[in-house]
Amino acid sequence: MTGSPVTRVASPYRPGTDAVPITVARGDGIGPEIMNATLRILTAAGARLAIEEIAIGETVYARGHSAGIEPGAWESLRRTKVFLKAPITTPQGGGFKSLNVTIRKSLGLFANVRPCVAYAPFVPTRHPGMDVVIVRENEEDVYGGIEHRQTDEVTQCLKLITRPGCERIIRYAFEYARTNGRSKVTCFTKDNIMKLTDGLFRRVFDEIAPEYPELQSEHWIVDIGAAMLADTPEVFDVIVMPNLYGDILSDVAAQIAGSVGLAGSANIGEHVAMFEAIHGSAPRIAGQNVANPSGLLLGAVMMLVHIGQPEIAERVHNAWLSTLEAGVSTSDTAAPGTDPVGTAAFADAVIERLGQIPKTLLAAEYAAAQPLLTVSPTTPAPAQLKTMDGVDVFLHHRDRDPAALAAALNIAAEGTWLSLQMITNRGVKVWPDGMPETFCTDHWRARFQSPHSSSTSRSHVIQLLHRLDRAGLDFIKTEGLYRFDDELGYSLGQGQ
Ligand code: NAD
Repeated sequence: MTGSPVTRVASPYRPGTDAVPITVARGDGIGPEIMNATLRILTAAGARLAIEEIAIGETVYARGHSAGIEPGAWESLRRTKVFLKAPITTPQGGGFKSLNVTIRKSLGLFANVRPCVAYAPFVPTRHPGMDVVIVRENEEDVYGGIEHRQTDEVTQCLKLITRPGCERIIRYAFEYARTNGRSKVTCFTKDNIMKLTDGLFRRVFDEIAPEYPELQSEHWIVDIGAAMLADTPEVFDVIVMPNLYGDILSDVAAQIAGSVGLAGSANIGEHVAMFEAIHGSAPRIAGQNVANPSGLLLGAVMMLVHIGQPEIAERVHNAWLSTLEAGVSTSDTAAPGTDPVGTAAFADAVIERLGQIPKTLLAAEYAAAQPLLTVSPTTPAPAQLKTMDGVDVFLHHRDRDPAALAAALNIAAEGTWLSLQMITNRGVKVWPDGMPETFCTDHWRARFQSPHSSSTSRSHVIQLLHRLDRAGLDFIKTEGLYRFDDELGYSLGQGQ
């Protein structure tokens, strides 16, 4: 890989007195209450904001917009490039798309940054020393929404991991660590099982880490890494991971730090950034003035750094820490025996403390903070020599006898360029030399390879498929078995 330098993009906004245009959505459930509290605090702290409001969520879904956002709202996001978003309620059932996933993917918000910090002794936690930042890849992995039902019994979801996607998020994590005075970046993957997809994520991590010699780097298999994170989060600093692991583990990390109600998050893209709380719309406590506005407020603090108002970010964050130190708390984080306050009173308590610095908790310092946006090089991978060894043909076949299927496939393929090498069912080899105990579904993978030394072509595959079709074999998809510069681009078959 070429180690071209990262371009740090200056904040698009000039420091000074200019009001910065931002788009705000009040969302559903507790959204309007916590947004109201947050905006009151930002205004009192002197944030220079020119707010454009858009509607998202339940009312918009109800008007027939399947992604929960109206076409005109995109114009506002493109114009302001900054989105402060309250949580929304995602309707259950088919036909609705997740607004969050739509926004992240449409606007290219590739990095999800979630600081998970303990505030002991003011917020009860079993991990008083915890201060972990999860950097979650936000666009790829199994979140492509590419799902298919292929047979009576089997559904499939495509997991896509790309080299440019890995480069961007991993470099972002290292840049974040460097600019925020962090000392270590840890990578979580499951590359012992998903050797090509998670393997690529880890490989890119190992390639980029040496560019940051002042930072420690390490890799953990995600299962034991997750167990360590839940047990001794103090050993971690910045953790970067693919989308699904990051989605799950950032909630775990926020909850064990104290409460999901306390964590904010930034979704960073090259053109637009979105700031929010990590929690949802908490419909059961909506409208009762009991919700904790802290998650959204801390998301807004990240936004203030991003738009070039770090001094206001510092003022708000320190007032909020001072509020915790004063024992003021909403019911979700109240220590036993203390009286919680409501959402609005909590906001008033933060406003009263603007200008104060916490005495026990570590004070926030953003004066010299860099904007969160860094654009890493995503040079297209050089074209490699791609050759084809054969093809995996996936079949819908109700008869559960692998030997009979093999016989039918062999007859159909007779005289073609390709010959049957093996059959697997859910990744387990069932022919040749299968085990009678293996459970089989109606979804089979038949691997065809060429006995000839020269490469297979697409025409050979088409000829094979034509024969299978004529034999009444229901192939549902194919995957080419490619080599890239002679390096194998497919797994060898036996699942682990
Ligand atoms: P949730 O985060 O809304 O609530 C989980 C639990 O945490 C509940 O007990 C809730 O009362 C509590 N909680 C959450 N935020 C709180 C706060 N600020 N103060 C005090 N307590 C708080 O998760 P859920 O119940 O699974 O989801 C509710 C809805 O939110 C669903 O429709 C879901 O799709 C949606 N959701 C939206 C977002 C988003 O917009 N970013 C994120 C997650 C979930």
